[in-house]
Amino acid sequence: MRFHLHLIILAFAFSATSCANRLDTQKELLVGTKATPLTTPRNNDVQITYLGTNGYLIRSSDTSIVIDPFFSRISLAKVIFNTPYSPSASLIAKYTQAAQFPSRIDAWLITHSHFDHLIDVPPLQQQFGGKIITSTTGKFLCLAAADDIPAQDIIASQAGNSYTIGNARIHVLPSIHDRVLGDIPIAGQISKPLTSEPTRPRDWKVGKTLAFLIEISGKKIYIDCGGLSGHPPQAHDVDLAILGAAVGDGQRRFAEAVRTLNPRYILPSHQDNFFTPLKRGFRFSFTSNFPQLKKNYLNEQLPGELILMDYFHSWMLN
Ligand SMILES: [Zn+2]
Repeated sequence: MRFHLHLIILAFAFSATSCANRLDTQKELLVGTKATPLTTPRNNDVQITYLGTNGYLIRSSDTSIVIDPFFSRISLAKVIFNTPYSPSASLIAKYTQAAQFPSRIDAWLITHSHFDHLIDVPPLQQQFGGKIITSTTGKFLCLAAADDIPAQDIIASQAGNSYTIGNARIHVLPSIHDRVLGDIPIAGQISKPLTSEPTRPRDWKVGKTLAFLIEISGKKIYIDCGGLSGHPPQAHDVDLAILGAAVGDGQRRFAEAVRTLNPRYILPSHQDNFFTPLKRGFRFSFTSNFPQLKKNYLNEQLPGELILMDYFHSWMLN
């Protein structure tokens, strides 16, 4: 019941929209272009394409990695009422094309198992192949959603593990999910195989939350989905820090995380309203509070350059 109340308050918040929530109010921070066709990264370049929510396609000349892809969006009302919900094949086709996915993806890195991070991964893996690196909860959800994914392609991982994927080295790091109005939403772990498919938003339980350090083409990229003050990231001196800043917890730990990571570039993430269709374009969610984040960045003279990205724009990190 408490969960319902949270979501109803959130629904009210999200419905309060204005022009101020558009990304073009922050034009001077935007990097990347909607180049078509994309040039394949060469030499030591790493190309970052933003997929919306906390989703990114990261490509080097020979390795492609996707983090938290989410194209099958659902309205907040449907989440509140926990209505039946499954991935949309047409939206997945449309937006993998918009993002110019290569024919094969080497790995899918999943920060946690909520629907806005994991629901599209089983059908995407079936189409593009590659290893899914997720939690135990994520593994059982993926297997229940698509029982024809080879079990060895889904890795139930935890902080401390490392993997070589193509020419990239992936380090799994500890991470904490933000609280929403005091509690972690859709909380819980799944520790044994499910006997039925996940068919509703709240079937996608959070599981263990993971952060990733990706070493690729001589660059270090850190990504998480949020965090808590007093729990700084376990990485330092990165080229790009992608930091979840959807709600208060992730925003409050922002300065601490940036100082620890000492990045060349800082990309606050998960700030868009992911309860509206991608075709509406990037709108800051009511909870994102980006002007405050920017103010902190300037006042505290944090290291690195603050940047933002628009949907399906690509930027070369070199
Ligand atoms: Zn989440």
